[in-house]
Amino acid sequence: MAKETHEFQAETKKLLDLMINSIYTNHEIFLRELISNASDAIDKLHFESLTNRDLLEGDEDYEIFLIPDKDSHTLTIADNGLGMNKAEVIENIGTIAQSGTKAFLEQIQKAKEAQGEGSELTDKELIGQFGVGFYSAFMVAEKVTIITRKAGETQGWRWESTADGNYTIEECEKEKRGTTITITLKKDFYGDEAEENFTENYKLQSLVKKYSDYVRYPIKMSFEVTEQPKDDKGEP
Ligand code: ADP
Repeated sequence: MAKETHEFQAETKKLLDLMINSIYTNHEIFLRELISNASDAIDKLHFESLTNRDLLEGDEDYEIFLIPDKDSHTLTIADNGLGMNKAEVIENIGTIAQSGTKAFLEQIQKAKEAQGEGSELTDKELIGQFGVGFYSAFMVAEKVTIITRKAGETQGWRWESTADGNYTIEECEKEKRGTTITITLKKDFYGDEAEENFTENYKLQSLVKKYSDYVRYPIKMSFEVTEQPKDDKGEP
């Protein structure tokens, strides 16, 4: 199948614009939102596996992986949850099903006006409540790439958007079931000069502690440690 380009639904576009123009000062909550989605996807798989063990494909070690990459200035959040097929990617990611979207947009407008007075709390509440979780990635992302394969199916799907009103979707290979979301960070959010550097291990560790401590699946991160060579006596 060739790469398809789809247009975001009008309401989704509005949300994306809000995220990009970042009325939120609290950018970091995108990580909480994506980890929470990953955890939900594992919950769903676990639940479905109770009546269909084949879905587990022999892999019962549920986990969420964070992979920061300084060179490509990306942050990847990978889960081995239920994953999505093509129709689900289009339905769940490209459109906003909730009828409360209009109300959300109005509330956001109010929150914007009230910014300064406890607005951080309002942001946090609103973003989760109305199911805009995933889109919060665009507060920090120049581009978001989703690679997903639904448990029990063989075809993987690659979704990508720079939030310019469109997204693309195409077939791809994915060995493990589940979803991998790669955020190509905007220049404000990576590098040693950045106030908030989301490729920094310590930053990610502290955010996980702060927001995702309640998540019942292990959140893992692999990173390189540079060790000084040691002599015969074990001295550096
Ligand atoms: P919410 O989580 O509140 O439903 P989101 O915008 O965060 O809203 O996500 C929209 C939908 O996309 C989710 O309901 C889910 O169906 C799907 N989704 C998002 N992230 C994942 C993921 N990691 N694995 C599987 N499905 C996902």
